[in-house]
Amino acid sequence: MANPSLYDMNLSDLEALLRAWGQPAFRTRQIYRQLYLNLAADPAAMTDLPQALRERLAHESTLNPLHLVRSQVSADGLTRKALFALPDGVQIETVLMIYADRATVCVSTQAGCAMGCSFCATATLDLRRNLTAGEMVAQVLWASREVRNLASQPASTTNPGRSSAEDATWWGESHALRRPLERVSNLVFMGMGEPFANYDRWWEAVQRLHDPLGFNMGARSMTVSTVGLVPGILRLADAGLPINLAISLHAPDDALRNELVPINTRYPIKEILAAAHTYVEKTGRRVSFEYVLIQGRNDHPHQALALAKLLRHESLICHVNLIPWNPLPGSPLARSDLQRVRAFQQVLVDYGLACTVRVERGVEIAAACGQLAGGGNCSHLG
Ligand code: SAH
Repeated sequence: MANPSLYDMNLSDLEALLRAWGQPAFRTRQIYRQLYLNLAADPAAMTDLPQALRERLAHESTLNPLHLVRSQVSADGLTRKALFALPDGVQIETVLMIYADRATVCVSTQAGCAMGCSFCATATLDLRRNLTAGEMVAQVLWASREVRNLASQPASTTNPGRSSAEDATWWGESHALRRPLERVSNLVFMGMGEPFANYDRWWEAVQRLHDPLGFNMGARSMTVSTVGLVPGILRLADAGLPINLAISLHAPDDALRNELVPINTRYPIKEILAAAHTYVEKTGRRVSFEYVLIQGRNDHPHQALALAKLLRHESLICHVNLIPWNPLPGSPLARSDLQRVRAFQQVLVDYGLACTVRVERGVEIAAACGQLAGGGNCSHLG
């Protein structure tokens, strides 16, 4: 039988394990603190535990299920992508984005994806398997360790491509002007996979990361993005945690959406908007719609107008996030040029909708939205 996985355990699971090992109850909190506050990546680092217990943990439990295969850093040092192998050899990617006042981790919820969106790199992999909650949690802890390591290093070693004066600006600013970044502050479930196709495990990961006795990440600092799986939207509406919800719309009508997002044939736009209404009513929160802009496919002014009318007609409390499509190797699609993006945005704004353009990170290391394809597709990037 496989060793029990520590990140897959909540506090009472861990308590049960330690009880079975004949350990006193207080060890549970000690280990939980080591995992989620000290970010221990190895039982050997849990120096407040007796040696024998550290050894038993090392031999009879699994701590970190992620094996780092490769990491890539953008030229400015602020975007970091990791390719991890899981214990069964399946690979996933995680992205860390560092800003002046926050650090955001983009987490994968599945290895590959079954949704088949025609513009997304992950779709080319098909679904390999669902991730466990622990495998999602581990990605956040990796990112958090990265942030902590970066914060403790002199700026010039974190970003060899820059002069020390520039370093002082980008990293120093985050220390001097804002609260110091000691760990990851925001989490987006926008990596590989469809979170609501792996709802139970995804929810377990959310709860673990939210646990005030552990990592204690605020629900408002987490965002989940869904392709539009209606049952998941409705479950989240009833879940009682104010996690931000983003829905990938990408088209103003079903005919086009069926082509871009094939799962639309199962959950068409009308049903998605009805579920979004329920979510807004029950939670009092607004919903975001993501809209990838692909030149000549879904970025015409008349399509912007149709989208504006659709959302205004529904009178949803919402926000539209436009994402200029990020190129995939070999794809016949093209990214909308800036002029078209701005024109599209203007139509929505003129209609009174809140609409922003997502500033992309990590395109040159294939770390941007929709570019995650694991070891399979990005080897050309070196
Ligand atoms: N399965 C979830 C999470 C996917 S990734 C979902 O569908 O929402 C987050 C966002 O990136 C989604 O809106 C997705 O449609 C978008 N995306 C996928 N491929 C992209 C690409 N090549 N360029 C820009 N955005 C892309």
